[in-house]
Amino acid sequence: MCYQERVIADAPQPVAPIPAAQLPASADAVVIGAGMVGAAVAAWLAATGRRVCVIDRTGPLGGTSASGEGNILLSDKLPGPELSLALRSTQLWLDLAEQAGDAVEFERKGGVVVAASQPQLDALAGLAEDQRAAGVQATALDAAALREAEPQLAPGLPGGAFYPQDCQVQPMRAAMACLSRAAATGRLTVTRAEATGLLPRHGAAHLVTDRGQVAAPVVVNAAGPWGGEVARRLGSFLPVRPRRGHILVTEPLPVLVKHKVYESDYVGAVASDGGKVWAHAVLRDSQGKLSTFEPGQVDFSSRREWRSPRTGTSYPVASTVKTGTVEWRLDPLMDDQELDSTQSTGAVYWEGAVTVSRDGKAVGRGYLELTGYNKALDLDK
Ligand SMILES: Cc1cc2nc3c(=O)[nH]c(=O)nc-3n(C[C@H](O)[C@H](O)[C@H](O)COP(=O)(O)OP(=O)(O)OC[C@H]3O[C@@H](n4cnc5c(N)ncnc54)[C@H](O)[C@@H]3O)c2cc1C
Repeated sequence: MCYQERVIADAPQPVAPIPAAQLPASADAVVIGAGMVGAAVAAWLAATGRRVCVIDRTGPLGGTSASGEGNILLSDKLPGPELSLALRSTQLWLDLAEQAGDAVEFERKGGVVVAASQPQLDALAGLAEDQRAAGVQATALDAAALREAEPQLAPGLPGGAFYPQDCQVQPMRAAMACLSRAAATGRLTVTRAEATGLLPRHGAAHLVTDRGQVAAPVVVNAAGPWGGEVARRLGSFLPVRPRRGHILVTEPLPVLVKHKVYESDYVGAVASDGGKVWAHAVLRDSQGKLSTFEPGQVDFSSRREWRSPRTGTSYPVASTVKTGTVEWRLDPLMDDQELDSTQSTGAVYWEGAVTVSRDGKAVGRGYLELTGYNKALDLDK
């Protein structure tokens, strides 16, 4: 999150708290999930005169919206349906920001996309041209203009592009502002409850939760990364696959960057699928009993990266591996266990000794292989 001096100096107006309510017997619409999406859906449904019941298993903002950076970007959208929606969304955000004022910490700060090389700059120029044709404002920046826009950037960069419509908002405040807006109509209830199933009934479905049932003709799945699991519980299918993002929060610093600044390669990374290709785990206990875990039960997350001084490759050398409900922490015996086999197999990878711990207790040693970090592996070969 980029903190501006203004925000630090003058704390913005607090958003009105939303009182927790009992689960109603019925509603015109039930929204599962009180993150940014569920809150916005609730605000717009309530504005159409519907009685809206929002449920969340943790209460509002128990998921991703409490961790996001809040950028509202056109710059990272490729022409197509997502860009069309983003253009409409930017307009709705401007309307909301006008009504909510400082309460949502909205900033129309603009985005500066930086090219690190001439080929990147050429690709960025092509993307910006396509985006302009779709209605986005984008201006090319040569090396001098880039430096003028963001004087703290490293020297020697060839240029970039400026996107004046890129904005930023505080996502938690924005979600609460939407819920407050819905609550102000007198037609919103927010209940801490977990959706577990759906009973189809004539006229209105009955959503089953751990706190009872609510009947409604409309049920909205706004469970974010858990949307696929919620759909499954409700007898439906939604191919939502979670993606991991990292954010570094610093202590408040003087303003160093004036815009949203990112390298142009990020556009490709956001557009990429980036999900799990394959995952599987088998655990053998000391008696030799095997437990098998399916892809949905296995998760790898990086806790620390190490960059090789020889190849410049970054490896997630310290990580957490989840198998079902159990978390294993892997830590390298030493960081530098990179193998450069460019002269034989062609691969550059990391393989080596790690310690394994569970619930803070050392449980053994392991051998970890990390491939595909130097360059993508072609799985068809
Ligand atoms: C580090 C990081 C940075 C990001 N930066 C940006 C950015 O700059 N701009 C941007 O647009 N996006 C960004 N994102 C993505 C953005 O934060 C998410 O897309 C967005 O917050 C998703 O909102 P949501 O309401 O769909 O889901 P969530 O906020 O995850 O809300 C889902 C809710 O559903 C609830 N829930 C789940 N299962 C059930 C159940 N069975 N019953 C009841 N409730 C349930 C959860 O408790 C949760 O509160 C970022 C994400 C991360 C991680």
